[in-house]
Amino acid sequence: ANATNIGAATPDATGDKSTEDDKDDRAAQSLLNKLIRSNLVKNTNQVEVLQKDPNSPLYSVRTFEELRLKPQLLQGVYSMGFNRPSKIQETALPMMLAEPPQNLIAQSQSGTGKTAAFVLAMLSHVDPSRKYPQCLCVSPTYELALQTGKVIEQMGQYYSEVKLVYAIRGNKLPRGTKLQEQIVIGTPGTMLDWCGKFKFFDPKKILVFVLDEADVMIDTQGHQDQSIRIQRMLPQSCQMLLFSATFEESVWNFAKRIVPDPNIIKLKREEETLDTIKQYYVLCNSREEKFKALCNIYGAITIAQAMIFCHTRKTAGWLAGELSREGHQVALLSGEMQVEQRAAVIERFREGKEKVLVTTNVCARGIDVEQVSVVINFDLPVDKDGNPDNETYLHRIGRTGRFGKRGLAINMVDSKMSMNILNKIQEHFNKKIERLDTDDLDEIE
Ligand code: ADP
Repeated sequence: ANATNIGAATPDATGDKSTEDDKDDRAAQSLLNKLIRSNLVKNTNQVEVLQKDPNSPLYSVRTFEELRLKPQLLQGVYSMGFNRPSKIQETALPMMLAEPPQNLIAQSQSGTGKTAAFVLAMLSHVDPSRKYPQCLCVSPTYELALQTGKVIEQMGQYYSEVKLVYAIRGNKLPRGTKLQEQIVIGTPGTMLDWCGKFKFFDPKKILVFVLDEADVMIDTQGHQDQSIRIQRMLPQSCQMLLFSATFEESVWNFAKRIVPDPNIIKLKREEETLDTIKQYYVLCNSREEKFKALCNIYGAITIAQAMIFCHTRKTAGWLAGELSREGHQVALLSGEMQVEQRAAVIERFREGKEKVLVTTNVCARGIDVEQVSVVINFDLPVDKDGNPDNETYLHRIGRTGRFGKRGLAINMVDSKMSMNILNKIQEHFNKKIERLDTDDLDEIE
């Protein structure tokens, strides 16, 4: 799996560590992305559409007006600062709002507008004059459910007759309760209890069922079964919608069980490339020498903002300390921090409050800080077995082709072993990594 350490909240916990961490990782990574994302991710790829009925015309919209939304919802959309539908929304929204409703499986990387799309679909389909649940939305974790709930509240801010309730652990309702809210959002276990065991609402009256973050969902033992059991209680006519950031075989198999006769929309992520990056390496003999080389680089060139990657938390902590002693404004991002804390650090760095961000692997994947012009691999990225991790390397320093500004990457090499890794990375990408003499830095810039 491509798991990073993002969510390893309890790295020392006993038990089946690898899978536990993986699961945590995905959910935490996803939450972190939501917390720091304020804009759509740019993507120049075409959406691929597979229609259930290939002969029916395919509609896509360029404006929100074309969707004939209720005025309260259009106002909500505009108040969120959306001017026009995102790439995936152009096709997904007409499908979701069609009459009769159509089922949809949609996959695109995080930040492309999936949540906003299904929230709009749910809000469009409810009848606020009926005081019972009509839309269900299941999310993999409590925190992710809360985030989606916030989007519903925001987009529905001018449509106050529509109410929302959270089916999440800790939200205990008295027996015999009959829910009046039109939208129920929650995690699969509590949701299943609420409709199956406690009968807080009638699943037969549900019009729209949304399963969000399917790839995170299937990582948790039990979530798959619970989701399928909820789905089985819903009427045939209920619209089923499933969303995922990635699409491995396992996600696909799950999706097909949840969503019968689906339309399918996919948007490939933007390719990353090293073409616009100048890559260098520096030869050193120790951690201290690497630090000295780093200081020389800082002395020689103007660096607006840099990200520095270390292999361990310990090195990252040490380096952050040394750098701030040198007078740099340093932020440290590390695995033991809570997701919210990490989001706050990244936010400050984005705002330019700190100029250097020192981090372990945790922020290598999924987070793009666009203004960063220099990336320093204080340690080269390696996998668990010590082999070069090309994918992480690319993700740390690569830029998405068309939008990428020119960048600079500097790799610190401190042993035969790391030289070997560097050579392998160079071979893999077939792109020269030039030697840099940090005592004579005229060549860069
Ligand atoms: P995903 O669910 O795919 O991760 P989101 O729906 O959360 O994506 O959207 C990512 C970000 O882009 C959010 O900050 C959201 O408010 C914003 N966004 C979504 N749709 C639009 C749009 N049509 N125009 C502008 N911003 C949008």
